Amino acid sequence: MDDIQELYHDTVMEHNRKPRNFRRLQKPSATADGFNPLCGDQITLDLTVHDNVITEVGFVGAGCAISSASASLMTEAINGKRIEEAQQLFEAFRVMLTRGVDIDYDIDLLGDLAALSGVTEFPVRIKCATLCWHALHSALNNTAGTATTE
Ligand code: ZN
Repeated sequence: MDDIQELYHDTVMEHNRKPRNFRRLQKPSATADGFNPLCGDQITLDLTVHDNVITEVGFVGAGCAISSASASLMTEAINGKRIEEAQQLFEAFRVMLTRGVDIDYDIDLLGDLAALSGVTEFPVRIKCATLCWHALHSALNNTAGTATTE
């Protein structure tokens, strides 16, 4: 492992140990559940959206280290962002995970989310990392039911 990979690994492990925003919100304006049947990861995501800005975000759930760390990193990344910005992040995140390590991705935009770039080497884990983003997508679109990675 080079230094960068090690740093990313530490970030993922740290977020898994101490997930940020791990709570239900009292009066969320949007909520969505997500489920990744391949791994058994579950998430419930709450958002408060005010004037098109995500002003508060919380999640609870159970799953593997990647899914927990990804949700934790996502809540930090989208908190205080406009909905369009959160959607841009999702797109950039998806590009990073699905196009392979040699393709440039927008590291300035992604910030700490780049800690999950190593997941590209484990394709079965990509769904663990994107689960929370699918839940975000359905929360923002008010899609009924449980978002799945399938
Ligand atoms: Zn998982």
